[in-house]
Amino acid sequence: MVLIMLTALETFEEVYVKVSLCFVVAGFVVAVLLMKYKFLYRKLGRDDVTGGKNKKEFERIAKDLIGGSGTYVLVYANIDRFKLINDDYGDSVGDMVLQKVQSIIDAELRWDEVSGRIMADNFGVLMRFNSIKMLEHRLARISEQIADLKDENGNHYGIILYYGVYVIEQGENDISAIMEYANLARRNISPSHMVPIGIYDERDRQRLSREKTLEMKMRKSLEQGHFIPYLQPKFELKGETVAGAEALVRWIDPEEGMIYPNEFIPLFESNGFVVDIDLYMFEEVCKMQEKWNQEGKPIVPVSVNLSRTHFEVPNFFEQYEKILEKYDLPPKTIEIELTESLFYNDLQSLNELVSHIHEVGLSCSIDDFGSGYSSLNMLKDVKVDALKLDRVFFASGDNDKRGRDIIQSVIQLAQALDLHTISEGVEERAQVDFLKEMDCDLIQGYVFAKPMPVTEFEKLAFGQR
Ligand code: C2E
Ligand code: MG
Ligand code: MG
Repeated sequence: MVLIMLTALETFEEVYVKVSLCFVVAGFVVAVLLMKYKFLYRKLGRDDVTGGKNKKEFERIAKDLIGGSGTYVLVYANIDRFKLINDDYGDSVGDMVLQKVQSIIDAELRWDEVSGRIMADNFGVLMRFNSIKMLEHRLARISEQIADLKDENGNHYGIILYYGVYVIEQGENDISAIMEYANLARRNISPSHMVPIGIYDERDRQRLSREKTLEMKMRKSLEQGHFIPYLQPKFELKGETVAGAEALVRWIDPEEGMIYPNEFIPLFESNGFVVDIDLYMFEEVCKMQEKWNQEGKPIVPVSVNLSRTHFEVPNFFEQYEKILEKYDLPPKTIEIELTESLFYNDLQSLNELVSHIHEVGLSCSIDDFGSGYSSLNMLKDVKVDALKLDRVFFASGDNDKRGRDIIQSVIQLAQALDLHTISEGVEERAQVDFLKEMDCDLIQGYVFAKPMPVTEFEKLAFGQR
């Protein structure tokens, strides 16, 4: 009996030891797994390009920090024209620059602050907030070091960071909304700060909610035909008769009435919907031209705008070709307006586009010439057919000799390169007379006519003939 009890006791002890061992091993395994998981987690939280924090990790930590005490500010930083660095130096140098920018920002931060790369050349920085002045000083310190970055030959890259600033209110914790506000604030950049800073204000909230409203109804509006092409006549200068038109989109909402493109085109450019609008407008103009042709009307070329957003889709012009195939149009009845800002980029792909446009029987022009940074030099490299002089040339009050000399030189240069010239935004009769002297080909401006519905344009262009 005693023996039996002893064996049972031994077995019990054995089991006890075994179970304890199991616990120890299991604990060990869990600890290893946890460490691995943490390592993996960290790895996942790291940005491939910069080695700093990625968006997810940044947002996770930022959310934790703002849940604590004290006031924070979210700074959304974007590198101005970063594309130029990639274009000039190649992607690997571009990546290295992003890496340096991240580490310069990180070095400025305290333990209870965080930063990470949000996407492309955008960084999020969560900082403690005392005053705008102090924030400016800290951002200026970052900007100075970044401006000082040099290439291997010792030349500065010339990097400028643009900051959008949103001061987070107590209790606010929706990090994606906070990021959106800070990003939006970059639009308010003013020269009154030490560095380019835009600060979020109440108008931004209203703008954001307005944009949301427009985005909610834009697709339906397109389906239901609430986007309407208006035509603004272009007048030739010899006889002052209608010789063409530009198709300009109008959003005629049943509840709101007319919404002008300045209110929605920039939004559609950022959300990509402008591509649908442009293709729609193009097809509307194809229909118009086919109808006029069938009715035996004289040819009046109509131009359409092509947003730079299209260039984000490879071979985007095929979509234009597909539409064009459906219609029977005389050549050169449609002109594609390429915005001037496209010309800062890759001239080769732009030239390929221009060749395509010509191959399918359309012509093309540079829109808003003079509004940005284009150089006269590029005119000889891209074989466009016409140059549209931006209305900055004709802004009232600038009608001095110097202004006129500039206009004259641009027109003469365009003529030497066999380009047609169209002056946009002309409002005064004196300017018309001057442009006549300069032998400018066409004028599109309120001095002659504003954009109008198609039926009204038809009366003006074909009515009296
Ligand atoms: P834009 O292509 O440069 O078009 C010319 C703009 O100048 C038009 O404004 C026109 O109404 C305005 N304008 C013409 N003459 C005068 C003048 O004498 N004085 C003044 N103050 N303004 C004049 P709108 O129709 O409001 O369009 C503004 C911009 O919106 C256009 O500038 C263009 O960039 C964009 N846009 C319009 N329709 C489309 C479209 O279908 N697709 C794309 N991508 N952009 C479009
Ligand atoms: Mg235009
Ligand atoms: Mg224009």
